Amino acid sequence: MIPASFEYVRADSVDGLLGALTEHGDEAKILAGGMSLIPLMKFRLAVPSVLVDAGRLDDLRYIRDGGDHVAIGALTRHRDLETNDLLGAECGVVRAVAAEVGDNQVRHRGTIGGSVAHGDSASDLPAVLLALDADFVIRGASGERVVAAADFFTGYFETVIAPDELLTEVRVPKSGPAGFSYQKFNRRAQDWAIVGSVAVRVGDSTRVGLVNMGPTPLRARGVEMALAEGASATDAAGAAAEGTEASADINATAEYRGHLARVLTRRALEAMV
Ligand SMILES: Cc1cc2nc3c(=O)[nH]c(=O)nc-3n(C[C@H](O)[C@H](O)[C@H](O)COP(=O)(O)OP(=O)(O)OC[C@H]3O[C@@H](n4cnc5c(N)ncnc54)[C@H](O)[C@@H]3O)c2cc1C
Repeated sequence: MIPASFEYVRADSVDGLLGALTEHGDEAKILAGGMSLIPLMKFRLAVPSVLVDAGRLDDLRYIRDGGDHVAIGALTRHRDLETNDLLGAECGVVRAVAAEVGDNQVRHRGTIGGSVAHGDSASDLPAVLLALDADFVIRGASGERVVAAADFFTGYFETVIAPDELLTEVRVPKSGPAGFSYQKFNRRAQDWAIVGSVAVRVGDSTRVGLVNMGPTPLRARGVEMALAEGASATDAAGAAAEGTEASADINATAEYRGHLARVLTRRALEAMV
Protein backbone atom coordinates (compact mmCIF):
# COMPACT_ATOMS: atom_id res chain seq x y z
CA MET A 1 0.00 0.00 0.00
CA ILE A 2 0.96 3.63 -0.33
CA PRO A 3 1.32 5.66 2.89
CA ALA A 4 -1.01 8.57 3.55
CA SER A 5 0.55 11.91 2.59
CA PHE A 6 2.80 13.57 5.14
CA GLU A 7 5.04 16.58 5.54
CA TYR A 8 8.78 15.80 5.53
CA VAL A 9 11.19 17.72 7.77
CA ARG A 10 14.91 16.95 7.63
CA ALA A 11 16.64 17.63 10.94
CA ASP A 12 20.20 18.95 10.71
CA SER A 13 20.79 19.03 14.47
CA VAL A 14 19.40 17.49 17.64
CA ASP A 15 18.04 20.90 18.71
CA GLY A 16 16.39 21.34 15.32
CA LEU A 17 14.79 17.93 15.63
CA LEU A 18 13.51 18.62 19.13
CA GLY A 19 12.13 21.97 17.93
CA ALA A 20 10.22 20.24 15.13
CA LEU A 21 8.82 17.68 17.59
CA THR A 22 7.68 20.45 19.95
CA GLU A 23 6.09 22.34 17.07
CA HIS A 24 4.16 19.40 15.64
CA GLY A 25 3.37 17.47 18.84
CA ASP A 26 1.61 14.10 18.53
CA GLU A 27 1.27 14.56 14.77
CA ALA A 28 5.00 14.08 14.25
CA LYS A 29 7.13 10.92 14.17
CA ILE A 30 10.88 10.56 14.11
CA LEU A 31 12.25 8.69 11.09
CA ALA A 32 15.53 6.87 11.76
CA GLY A 33 16.27 3.88 9.47
CA GLY A 34 12.61 3.58 8.50
CA MET A 35 12.76 -0.21 8.64
CA SER A 36 9.85 -0.45 11.07
CA LEU A 37 8.08 2.87 10.62
CA ILE A 38 7.76 2.86 6.82
CA PRO A 39 6.12 -0.60 6.67
CA LEU A 40 3.67 0.54 9.38
CA MET A 41 2.89 3.65 7.33
CA LYS A 42 2.38 1.59 4.20
CA PHE A 43 -0.19 -0.51 6.06
CA ARG A 44 -1.60 2.75 7.48
CA LEU A 45 -1.11 1.42 11.00
CA ALA A 46 0.89 4.62 11.57
CA VAL A 47 -0.37 7.81 9.97
CA PRO A 48 1.92 10.64 11.10
CA SER A 49 1.22 13.92 9.36
CA VAL A 50 4.86 15.01 9.82
CA LEU A 51 8.00 12.88 9.51
CA VAL A 52 11.08 14.35 11.17
CA ASP A 53 14.09 12.69 9.58
CA ALA A 54 16.92 12.04 12.06
CA GLY A 55 18.93 10.10 9.48
CA ARG A 56 21.49 12.86 8.88
CA LEU A 57 22.35 13.32 12.57
CA ASP A 58 25.78 11.77 12.18
CA ASP A 59 26.90 13.02 15.60
CA LEU A 60 24.50 10.39 17.04
CA ARG A 61 26.25 7.62 15.11
CA TYR A 62 29.15 6.33 17.24
CA ILE A 63 30.42 3.51 19.45
CA ARG A 64 32.67 4.78 22.24
CA ASP A 65 34.39 3.50 25.35
CA GLY A 66 32.56 5.08 28.29
CA GLY A 67 34.71 3.53 31.06
CA ASP A 68 32.46 0.93 32.68
CA HIS A 69 30.16 0.87 29.65
CA VAL A 70 30.12 1.18 25.89
CA ALA A 71 28.23 4.26 24.69
CA ILE A 72 26.32 3.76 21.45
CA GLY A 73 24.72 6.68 19.61
CA ALA A 74 21.05 6.07 18.85
CA LEU A 75 21.54 6.52 15.09
CA THR A 76 24.19 3.77 14.95
CA ARG A 77 23.17 1.16 12.42
CA HIS A 78 23.01 -2.57 13.08
CA ARG A 79 25.75 -3.05 10.48
CA ASP A 80 28.05 -0.74 12.48
CA LEU A 81 27.35 -2.81 15.61
CA GLU A 82 28.04 -6.17 14.02
CA THR A 83 31.41 -5.03 12.63
CA ASN A 84 32.72 -3.03 15.59
CA ASP A 85 35.82 -4.31 17.38
CA LEU A 86 35.34 -2.31 20.61
CA LEU A 87 31.85 -3.74 20.97
CA GLY A 88 33.16 -7.23 20.18
CA ALA A 89 35.77 -6.96 22.94
CA GLU A 90 33.61 -5.28 25.60
CA CYS A 91 30.01 -6.37 24.85
CA GLY A 92 30.38 -9.31 22.50
CA VAL A 93 26.75 -10.33 22.90
CA VAL A 94 25.47 -7.03 21.45
CA ARG A 95 27.72 -7.32 18.42
CA ALA A 96 26.69 -10.95 17.84
CA VAL A 97 22.96 -10.33 18.22
CA ALA A 98 23.05 -7.27 15.93
CA ALA A 99 24.14 -9.68 13.19
CA GLU A 100 20.89 -11.64 13.74
CA VAL A 101 18.62 -8.69 12.90
CA GLY A 102 16.78 -9.11 9.59
CA ASP A 103 18.97 -9.26 6.50
CA ASN A 104 21.87 -7.21 5.17
CA GLN A 105 19.69 -4.48 3.71
CA VAL A 106 17.78 -4.09 6.98
CA ARG A 107 21.00 -3.98 9.01
CA HIS A 108 22.49 -1.32 6.75
CA ARG A 109 19.50 0.99 7.37
CA GLY A 110 18.06 0.07 10.77
CA THR A 111 19.42 1.71 13.92
CA ILE A 112 19.82 0.58 17.52
CA GLY A 113 17.77 3.60 18.62
CA GLY A 114 14.93 2.66 16.28
CA SER A 115 14.96 -0.94 17.50
CA VAL A 116 14.68 0.21 21.09
CA ALA A 117 12.24 3.11 20.61
CA HIS A 118 9.91 1.01 18.47
CA GLY A 119 9.22 -1.11 21.57
CA ASP A 120 8.54 -4.36 19.71
CA SER A 121 9.12 -7.31 22.02
CA ALA A 122 9.88 -9.45 18.94
CA SER A 123 13.00 -7.37 18.21
CA ASP A 124 16.30 -9.00 19.05
CA LEU A 125 18.34 -6.24 20.70
CA PRO A 126 15.93 -4.98 23.39
CA ALA A 127 15.98 -8.29 25.32
CA VAL A 128 19.79 -8.29 25.23
CA LEU A 129 19.96 -4.71 26.49
CA LEU A 130 17.48 -5.61 29.24
CA ALA A 131 19.57 -8.61 30.28
CA LEU A 132 22.67 -6.40 30.44
CA ASP A 133 20.91 -3.67 32.48
CA ALA A 134 21.66 -1.04 29.83
CA ASP A 135 20.69 2.61 30.29
CA PHE A 136 18.91 4.78 27.74
CA VAL A 137 19.63 8.49 27.40
CA ILE A 138 16.56 10.48 26.35
CA ARG A 139 16.59 14.17 25.42
CA GLY A 140 13.67 16.57 25.30
CA ALA A 141 13.16 20.33 25.26
CA SER A 142 13.48 20.44 29.05
CA GLY A 143 16.73 18.47 29.24
CA GLU A 144 18.14 14.98 29.42
CA ARG A 145 17.16 11.95 31.50
CA VAL A 146 18.65 8.49 31.84
CA VAL A 147 16.25 5.54 32.12
CA ALA A 148 17.23 2.02 33.12
CA ALA A 149 16.21 -0.75 30.71
CA ALA A 150 14.05 -2.30 33.43
CA ASP A 151 11.88 0.86 33.46
CA PHE A 152 12.01 1.69 29.75
CA PHE A 153 9.65 -0.79 28.06
CA THR A 154 6.12 -0.15 29.30
CA GLY A 155 3.82 -2.17 27.02
CA TYR A 156 3.07 -3.46 23.58
CA PHE A 157 5.04 -1.11 21.25
CA GLU A 158 5.27 1.35 24.15
CA THR A 159 8.23 2.89 25.93
CA VAL A 160 8.74 5.82 28.28
CA ILE A 161 9.86 8.08 25.39
CA ALA A 162 7.39 10.98 25.07
CA PRO A 163 6.30 12.22 21.60
CA ASP A 164 8.53 15.30 21.96
CA GLU A 165 11.63 13.35 23.07
CA LEU A 166 14.55 11.74 21.25
CA LEU A 167 16.55 8.71 22.37
CA THR A 168 20.15 9.81 21.92
CA GLU A 169 22.36 7.11 23.42
CA VAL A 170 22.38 3.54 24.69
CA ARG A 171 24.87 2.76 27.49
CA VAL A 172 25.75 -0.91 27.69
CA PRO A 173 27.67 -2.16 30.74
CA LYS A 174 30.75 -4.10 29.71
CA SER A 175 30.25 -7.86 29.80
CA GLY A 176 33.32 -8.99 27.87
CA PRO A 177 33.91 -10.69 24.55
CA ALA A 178 32.47 -14.11 25.41
CA GLY A 179 30.19 -15.94 27.84
CA PHE A 180 26.90 -15.65 25.96
CA SER A 181 24.58 -17.39 23.54
CA TYR A 182 21.55 -16.14 21.63
CA GLN A 183 19.06 -18.71 20.41
CA LYS A 184 16.56 -17.34 17.91
CA PHE A 185 13.74 -19.47 16.54
CA ASN A 186 12.16 -18.37 13.29
CA ARG A 187 10.95 -19.94 10.08
CA ARG A 188 13.03 -17.89 7.62
CA ALA A 189 16.53 -16.64 8.32
CA GLN A 190 15.70 -12.92 8.04
CA ASP A 191 12.50 -12.98 10.10
CA TRP A 192 11.77 -11.72 13.58
CA ALA A 193 12.04 -14.29 16.36
CA ILE A 194 8.95 -16.38 17.04
CA VAL A 195 10.74 -16.71 20.38
CA GLY A 196 14.32 -15.87 21.31
CA SER A 197 16.41 -16.44 24.41
CA VAL A 198 19.72 -14.85 25.30
CA ALA A 199 21.96 -16.05 28.12
CA VAL A 200 24.90 -13.90 29.14
CA ARG A 201 27.37 -14.13 31.99
CA VAL A 202 27.95 -10.89 33.86
CA GLY A 203 30.54 -11.29 36.61
CA ASP A 204 29.47 -14.27 38.70
CA SER A 205 25.85 -14.24 37.58
CA THR A 206 24.02 -15.45 34.49
CA ARG A 207 21.33 -13.23 33.00
CA VAL A 208 18.59 -14.47 30.69
CA GLY A 209 16.48 -12.30 28.39
CA LEU A 210 13.43 -13.40 26.41
CA VAL A 211 12.25 -12.16 23.02
CA ASN A 212 8.55 -12.22 22.06
CA MET A 213 7.28 -13.81 25.27
CA GLY A 214 4.99 -10.92 26.26
CA PRO A 215 4.15 -7.29 25.46
CA THR A 216 7.69 -6.21 26.38
CA PRO A 217 11.12 -7.87 26.36
CA LEU A 218 11.49 -9.87 29.58
CA ARG A 219 14.08 -11.17 32.03
CA ALA A 220 13.64 -14.84 32.91
CA ARG A 221 14.06 -14.19 36.63
CA GLY A 222 13.04 -17.72 37.64
CA VAL A 223 15.85 -19.14 35.52
CA GLU A 224 18.36 -16.64 36.87
CA MET A 225 17.41 -17.47 40.49
CA ALA A 226 17.56 -21.22 39.89
CA LEU A 227 21.04 -20.89 38.38
CA ALA A 228 22.19 -18.77 41.31
CA GLU A 229 21.03 -21.56 43.64
CA GLY A 230 23.09 -24.11 41.69
CA ALA A 231 20.47 -25.69 39.40
CA SER A 232 21.61 -27.37 36.19
CA ALA A 233 20.91 -25.72 32.83
CA THR A 234 18.13 -28.21 32.15
CA ASP A 235 16.42 -27.70 35.50
CA ALA A 236 16.79 -23.91 35.46
CA ALA A 237 15.47 -23.63 31.90
CA GLY A 238 12.27 -25.31 33.07
CA ALA A 239 11.32 -21.98 34.66
CA ALA A 240 11.79 -19.96 31.45
CA ALA A 241 8.09 -19.40 30.75
CA GLU A 242 7.18 -18.53 34.36
CA GLY A 243 5.58 -15.08 34.62
CA THR A 244 5.50 -14.56 30.86
CA GLU A 245 2.45 -13.48 28.84
CA ALA A 246 3.13 -14.95 25.43
CA SER A 247 0.56 -14.17 22.76
CA ALA A 248 -0.88 -16.49 20.14
CA ASP A 249 -0.61 -15.62 16.46
CA ILE A 250 -0.23 -17.18 13.04
CA ASN A 251 3.24 -18.49 13.97
CA ALA A 252 2.63 -20.11 17.36
CA THR A 253 0.17 -20.70 20.16
CA ALA A 254 0.99 -19.28 23.59
CA GLU A 255 1.68 -22.84 24.83
CA TYR A 256 4.10 -23.51 22.00
CA ARG A 257 5.89 -20.25 22.75
CA GLY A 258 6.27 -21.41 26.36
CA HIS A 259 7.77 -24.67 25.12
CA LEU A 260 10.15 -22.76 22.84
CA ALA A 261 11.22 -20.50 25.72
CA ARG A 262 12.22 -23.53 27.80
CA VAL A 263 14.03 -25.31 24.95
CA LEU A 264 15.83 -22.21 23.65
CA THR A 265 16.86 -21.15 27.15
CA ARG A 266 18.34 -24.59 27.85
CA ARG A 267 20.22 -24.45 24.57
CA ALA A 268 21.45 -20.92 25.30
CA LEU A 269 22.70 -21.93 28.75
CA GLU A 270 24.43 -25.02 27.37
CA ALA A 271 25.97 -23.16 24.42
CA MET A 272 27.18 -20.19 26.48
CA VAL A 273 30.94 -19.94 25.95
C1 LIG B 1 12.27 -7.23 6.37
C2 LIG B 1 12.60 -6.79 7.79
C3 LIG B 1 13.08 -7.72 8.69
C4 LIG B 1 13.38 -7.33 9.98
N1 LIG B 1 13.82 -8.28 10.83
C5 LIG B 1 14.12 -7.94 12.10
C6 LIG B 1 14.61 -8.92 13.00
O1 LIG B 1 14.79 -10.09 12.68
N2 LIG B 1 14.89 -8.52 14.26
C7 LIG B 1 14.73 -7.22 14.68
O2 LIG B 1 15.03 -6.93 15.83
N3 LIG B 1 14.27 -6.29 13.85
C8 LIG B 1 13.98 -6.60 12.57
N4 LIG B 1 13.53 -5.64 11.71
C9 LIG B 1 13.37 -4.25 12.20
C10 LIG B 1 14.72 -3.50 12.18
O3 LIG B 1 15.55 -3.96 13.18
C11 LIG B 1 14.57 -2.01 12.41
O4 LIG B 1 15.82 -1.47 12.15
C12 LIG B 1 14.21 -1.54 13.78
O5 LIG B 1 13.12 -2.24 14.34
C13 LIG B 1 13.82 -0.06 13.76
O6 LIG B 1 14.92 0.71 13.50
P1 LIG B 1 14.86 1.90 12.47
O7 LIG B 1 16.12 2.70 12.66
O8 LIG B 1 14.59 1.40 11.12
O9 LIG B 1 13.64 2.76 13.04
P2 LIG B 1 12.41 3.47 12.32
O10 LIG B 1 11.63 2.48 11.54
O11 LIG B 1 12.87 4.70 11.60
O12 LIG B 1 11.59 3.93 13.60
C14 LIG B 1 10.90 3.00 14.41
C15 LIG B 1 10.16 3.74 15.53
O13 LIG B 1 11.08 4.26 16.48
C16 LIG B 1 10.99 5.70 16.54
N5 LIG B 1 12.37 6.17 16.66
C17 LIG B 1 13.40 5.82 15.85
N6 LIG B 1 14.54 6.34 16.32
C18 LIG B 1 14.22 7.04 17.44
C19 LIG B 1 14.99 7.80 18.38
N7 LIG B 1 16.33 7.93 18.29
N8 LIG B 1 14.35 8.38 19.42
C20 LIG B 1 12.99 8.24 19.56
N9 LIG B 1 12.21 7.53 18.71
C21 LIG B 1 12.83 6.94 17.66
C22 LIG B 1 10.28 6.12 15.27
O14 LIG B 1 9.58 7.34 15.42
C23 LIG B 1 9.35 4.94 15.03
O15 LIG B 1 8.20 5.07 15.84
C24 LIG B 1 13.22 -5.98 10.39
C25 LIG B 1 12.75 -5.04 9.48
C26 LIG B 1 12.44 -5.42 8.19
C27 LIG B 1 11.92 -4.40 7.22
